[in-house]
Amino acid sequence: MNQIISFLNGLDDYELAYFAKFKLHTYMQDTQLEIKRHLRKKELTKEKVDKLIAANPKKEAKKGKIRCPRCSSDKIRTEKVEWTNTVNKVGYEDEIASMDGLSGKIIYKNQVICNVCEYWIEDPNFEKTKKSIWHDIGDALFHIFTN
Ligand SMILES: [Zn+2]
Repeated sequence: MNQIISFLNGLDDYELAYFAKFKLHTYMQDTQLEIKRHLRKKELTKEKVDKLIAANPKKEAKKGKIRCPRCSSDKIRTEKVEWTNTVNKVGYEDEIASMDGLSGKIIYKNQVICNVCEYWIEDPNFEKTKKSIWHDIGDALFHIFTN
């Protein structure tokens, strides 16, 4: 069984619904087809996805555990990233960080992303914003070359 299908098998119906709505389109065409086959097997239609998302019972976050604020899944990935966004920020903590930045000390912050719906829970460097811009440009180029 390939990686994506075994990941999908570990999701409950609600998580699967969020996945279908928010993350499915981020995959390559071939993988999307494979995922859609899996969703069909699970009889997860578009109507059912919308219903599940509307009904999603928010699960309580256990102490010390993060849950996604959008889909409430605990399937979260955390990556330590070098904090590059030290300019144009105000506030005590950020001022200290800027000073550290000047002294050449590297600051690491957590970049936290939901594995189910790809919601960016913590995005210290605004990577999400950058990526979606590149995604749009990429799409535009794709259309130029395929038309
Ligand atoms: Zn999520």
